[in-house]
Amino acid sequence: MSDVATFSTFAPATGELFHTYPITSDDEVAQSINRARAAALWWANLSFSKRRAILLKWNALLISRLTEAADLIVAESGKPRSDADLEAAIACEHIAWAARKASFYLRPHHRSPGLLMANMSAHVDRVPFGVVGVIGPWNYPIFTPIGSIAYALAAGNTVIFKPSEFTPGIGLWLAQTLAEIVPERHLLQVVTGAGSVGAALINHGVDKISFTGSTATAKKVAAACVERMIPFVLECGGKDPVLIDSDADLNRAAEHALWSGMANAGQSCIGAERIYVHHEVAERFLEILRERAHEIKAGVNYGAATRPAQIEIIKRHVNDALKHGQQVVGDQSSVGERFVEPVIITNVPEDAPSMREETFGPVLLVNTVNDMKEAIEKANDTSFGLAASVWSRRNGEQIASQLHCGMVSINSVFTFAAMGSMPFGGVKDSGMGRIHGPEGLLEFTYPRSVVKPRFNLPLEFTSFKRSAFADKVITTLSRIRHK
Ligand code: NDP
Repeated sequence: MSDVATFSTFAPATGELFHTYPITSDDEVAQSINRARAAALWWANLSFSKRRAILLKWNALLISRLTEAADLIVAESGKPRSDADLEAAIACEHIAWAARKASFYLRPHHRSPGLLMANMSAHVDRVPFGVVGVIGPWNYPIFTPIGSIAYALAAGNTVIFKPSEFTPGIGLWLAQTLAEIVPERHLLQVVTGAGSVGAALINHGVDKISFTGSTATAKKVAAACVERMIPFVLECGGKDPVLIDSDADLNRAAEHALWSGMANAGQSCIGAERIYVHHEVAERFLEILRERAHEIKAGVNYGAATRPAQIEIIKRHVNDALKHGQQVVGDQSSVGERFVEPVIITNVPEDAPSMREETFGPVLLVNTVNDMKEAIEKANDTSFGLAASVWSRRNGEQIASQLHCGMVSINSVFTFAAMGSMPFGGVKDSGMGRIHGPEGLLEFTYPRSVVKPRFNLPLEFTSFKRSAFADKVITTLSRIRHK
């Protein structure tokens, strides 16, 4: 009998066993880092065009087998098929963008040496870290980790991915498919198990960590990284606000805010949790929101809660919000054992826990404001700063410019996440650093400054033979330049 420790995943909608996986041992984590480091030497020395060709070949393979990906996502996350298809397709979009753009954003950049060093040439290389550890969540099991994996690979790193213990299947599948393209090299490996396996990646010294998950775990991950001087990027949760001005298209605002808050069973870090609506249109907006919410149903429009423990958090927040506010749609009975029906509550005080903590369920809290100044103040009065959505025909840009968060959608929701070119990430408790876009490519490299003389000057500045005349030249030039 095998003595390998295992864990299992279960269908969120039924609790039925889906698959059993090995728990990667501490030794195996260390070995996978050694393999990744050897592969990283080869991978980093390939030209941008060779890496691009391999990643695009991988992407083409993924696209030809998207149904396999979607099957695994549906089975372990419990989301509807069309959502899994969309998620997998967007993941491929990111792989292609990162593969195609890496050479442009990461090529050596020449810099001006300045007047004092005019005889020098100077450039900055972008150097891959080596082995990047990606620690992923369960809510978007392919889209979220690909935002790190694809960009880290395109930048010349190899990757070890530790998926959430609720959704490891798609991670293993990603590694298998890349190994079909490059069988002889360990470009992407997957280690499986609970949080301790993620912690082992840090303990055994990967060269960079990209983490997505809760702020509480992010702080533990960051502390462990700092202890070993491992750089990190953290993508944490949010309490994302939607701001609705008096001139907003209310039908569209209600439709999209509802989707933002409820799609994926509300398990979206960039999903709406709080809505601030101008008092002149509040009644009409709530009427439309209520009508639309009655048209959607858990188990049809979105799936079960992927992580069973989330149900308790949602229940606590719904109870808290109902204690202080007024019910619009749903109530305590909407929170079932596995599924949560839509819940909308209004007039919840700003200091209530349900208004301040991340719920990660299909629950929207809607408060009326006197004007957009008040909406902006309330939207910003949170420990989080991930994303926001603004609805206004005339004032969208002006409102967006005052929001303290990493991403803002005007008269839309979520779309930045599907754009390869747009950085993704937050501020405050929502994290630091960026995935996606040029910033996401840069995140997985460090700058190396390289200088060399174009010609030698008769004056030596970096020598013990520096003359009094050389000193005078320096001070005179400085005075002329900066007076
Ligand atoms: P966690 O933050 O605990 O987990 C995220 C990932 O980190 C998982 O792969 C987890 O492993 C791993 N992990 C846990 N502990 C450690 C550790 N000490 N060192 C390294 N890795 C570790 O999220 P949860 O799944 O527990 O969800 C809790 C809350 O987080 C949710 O209620 C939600 O509010 C928020 N969340 C936010 C997400 C986002 O997109 N920003 C995504 C998911 C959750 P494992 O889960 O296998 O134990």
